[in-house]
Amino acid sequence: MTDPTIFGKIIRRELPADIVYEDDDLIAFRDIAPQAPVHVLFVPKTPIATLNELKPEQAAVVGKLAYAAAQYAKREGFAEDGYRVVMNCNEHGGQTVFQLHLHLLAGDPLGRFGT
Ligand code: 5GP
Repeated sequence: MTDPTIFGKIIRRELPADIVYEDDDLIAFRDIAPQAPVHVLFVPKTPIATLNELKPEQAAVVGKLAYAAAQYAKREGFAEDGYRVVMNCNEHGGQTVFQLHLHLLAGDPLGRFGT
């Protein structure tokens, strides 16, 4: 068996995290080094290293992450103000944890991407 990533350990409760949502398919917890007032990571329980490894039969996983993030934004009351979701892939994308995850960033105007 391959070593679980940090996120795998959080899913298995081997590492602590500030968990804000969980269901059968995914877990969401606050980022340890937030880049915005709200910074939550949505992680599928199925280990997939990067977006590149996503198989066709797993494509719905990404939709579940996005849906859970939008529901969280609505519950927390910032959906109308807006938010950003990001998935980093590999070195040039800035990925540091190799278990697929979606960042939800909110709480302040974030500025236009890439400027
Ligand atoms: P990536 O750069 O791979 O897209 O994002 C990984 C994110 O995981 C980073 O924003 C980083 O701050 C966060 N992170 C790394 N280790 C931990 C941890 O042990 N706990 C939590 N909650 N977040 C972590």
